Amino acid sequence: MGKKVIVLGGGNTAMDCCRSSLRLGANDVKVIVRSPFTDMKASEWEIEDAMEENIPIIENHVPKKFLHKKGKLIGMEFEKVKASYDKKGKRSLIPTGEDPVIVKCDDVIIAIGQYNAYQWIEKDIGIEFGEWDMPVVDKKTFQSTHEKVFFGGDAAWGPENIIWAVAHGHQAAISIDKLCEGKDLHSRPDPMTNLVSQKMGVHEWSYDNDISQKKRFLVPHADQKISLKNLKVEVELGYDEKLAFEEAQRCLNCDVQTVFAESKCIECDACVDICPTDTINFVYNDSEDKLREKLRVPAANKNQDLLVSEELPTKRVMVKDEDLCVHCGLCAERCPTAAWDMQTFLYEEARTYSKCTTMDIKKTNLIMHKIKAENEFVIKFANVNGSGSASANQMFAKGVFRIGIPVSPKNIFPSNIQGFPTWFEVRVTEKGYLGRREGIDISVAMNPQSYAEDIAEIRKGGYLLYDSSW
Ligand code: SF4
Ligand code: SF4
Repeated sequence: MGKKVIVLGGGNTAMDCCRSSLRLGANDVKVIVRSPFTDMKASEWEIEDAMEENIPIIENHVPKKFLHKKGKLIGMEFEKVKASYDKKGKRSLIPTGEDPVIVKCDDVIIAIGQYNAYQWIEKDIGIEFGEWDMPVVDKKTFQSTHEKVFFGGDAAWGPENIIWAVAHGHQAAISIDKLCEGKDLHSRPDPMTNLVSQKMGVHEWSYDNDISQKKRFLVPHADQKISLKNLKVEVELGYDEKLAFEEAQRCLNCDVQTVFAESKCIECDACVDICPTDTINFVYNDSEDKLREKLRVPAANKNQDLLVSEELPTKRVMVKDEDLCVHCGLCAERCPTAAWDMQTFLYEEARTYSKCTTMDIKKTNLIMHKIKAENEFVIKFANVNGSGSASANQMFAKGVFRIGIPVSPKNIFPSNIQGFPTWFEVRVTEKGYLGRREGIDISVAMNPQSYAEDIAEIRKGGYLLYDSSW
């Protein structure tokens, strides 16, 4: 590695290359990008770390020429540009007309990603290629113009991240399964979603709802005097226990939703008073624009839909702007009628083998044949508060959901007094949280104190699991 190094590119790889160059002996490393700094593809924290090591990032410079003398690289020539964006946000880089910029260097690292190269695909087998020599791919089915060939990830539409590639793989798998079964590829299965109540007591939730105003805690780094001299020294030291805890406290629990039940609301406005961010409004309905204006905090972000309830007895509606909600749960704690509940949103990607949603439960001996519809039953756990039951209950409910069956779980006894009995009921139903079913089909009694009561509740033909040593 020479002493003067130019790294071309503005992605995460470029940030790796420039920092590694310093560690491999270079002492003058520059990152030079075509785009404006703000358009760089690298993650914000990767750019911060490179700049922390005093690596300059030069924006708006388009590489034009390698310069060499007697067969040796001596520098590069760049053209200065400025970015211009059309109405759709498409960027053009316009030369400024200034003199070319010469940057001396010993080495150039080209970290600008790679092209797809499809020379290996014979041109007469039915796969059509379009712009940039990329395959023509259906955005919904991931099928190419050859019905048996599918593309995804970078191979389909150019550079994306690995998460997109995995998602494309799931979708292509669904298409391939449909193709093999002779079905319409455009008729896609929906993903599965569910809401799980987090209520554990009158004022307690199974998630941590403390709101922290702190900014992101930076991961501590090794001393640069050491880390810049040795490629093998781990730069990021990681959080210690205290910092990790503080960083976790910043979580906004955006998977936990405020769920509103119109039928329970008595319009006392207590939730409006308690909400620390003025998120909740009871107003007369109107056109969307007017409604947005008359909220306690006008909702300017039109990309964020408003939650508007059904009309309430006073002819008003409850309107909530999700942009403001910090998921503190105060509305649900304050509400005298439990019209608000805090519920975790669960999402399960659509699968190729949807038939398995009934299979796994059918196989368990618990259900046997007495319950007619295998995925329509209620299981109730009789627990003791403070025994770890809340976590176990939630894990059970989520476990069932993860194998592909919607569930509707809730705590029955809103007590959080340690040692007191408590119950957790899980309705396993294809209707998910919309399902309603009275009576218990399976009772798992873990509390001898309420054992007799638990038996009495079981539906005829149901089951009781208990510790026979009681
Ligand atoms: S969860 Fe907190 S911030 Fe969100 S609506 Fe309820 S009280 Fe307001
Ligand atoms: S506190 Fe409950 S009952 Fe009162 S207005 Fe809010 S949601 Fe309705």
